[in-house]
Amino acid sequence: MEKEKAMVKAILWDVDGTLLDFAAAEKAAIQRLFQEFGLGECTDDMVARYSAINDGYWKRLERGEIAKKEVLIGRFREFFAELGIDPDLAEAFNARYQHALGDTVVYRDDSLAIVKSLHGRVKQYVVSNGTVVAQTKKLERSGLGQWMDGVFLSEELGAEKPGPAFFDKVFAALPDLKKEEMLIVGDSLTSNMKGGIAAGIPTCWYNPQRSSPPCGHGHGLRDPGPAPGVRGDIKKGLSHSEKSIHHKYDNWLVA
Ligand SMILES: [Mg+2]
Repeated sequence: MEKEKAMVKAILWDVDGTLLDFAAAEKAAIQRLFQEFGLGECTDDMVARYSAINDGYWKRLERGEIAKKEVLIGRFREFFAELGIDPDLAEAFNARYQHALGDTVVYRDDSLAIVKSLHGRVKQYVVSNGTVVAQTKKLERSGLGQWMDGVFLSEELGAEKPGPAFFDKVFAALPDLKKEEMLIVGDSLTSNMKGGIAAGIPTCWYNPQRSSPPCGHGHGLRDPGPAPGVRGDIKKGLSHSEKSIHHKYDNWLVA
């Protein structure tokens, strides 16, 4: 048992869609900024359309096809063009949007309680492609930041998940940790899981929708090898916390 317990010494947390409900923050921010910019009502359908456009841009960033600035500005340019709004508003809108994203804090499951309960038991780090402005505000306002031992943001590292350069910089900053002692936890297969697997660290897919694991479909999620021990260790780490955490923990799949 003790041997298992030593397996995970550090958790690398994704933020958006994992610790925090990104969709809720996105919707609130966009709808409020439409009012602020005098653009009229942004309906739920319009937000959904924006969200789809946005996802496409982030996927292109993950594939290394475009740079971060093209994501941040390009998504709004495209969205505005579809709506007949001046695309040149995109830059100013995005600048405000980065701040507004941190105004709405909705936790995913019991993320705050989980992070708090693991504090001091394992090291915890944020690994995110989100902007410095948005993520700094979110971590502070959510209270999650106080339990973290460090924050790694792609904008500061100069490399995006899932690229190996991102993880190399994380590893370089944490020389006392072996790869097998880390666990990356995230909702994105194309960013967190793909990056973690390529970097050679254990991965934990946060899958609240209970989607089927895409084993053998190019994402590299493997049948659990050492994973049950890792998962058991995290469960043990949570065992002193609220019962609800155990229930919610069923959403976590280690692969
Ligand atoms: Mg995410």
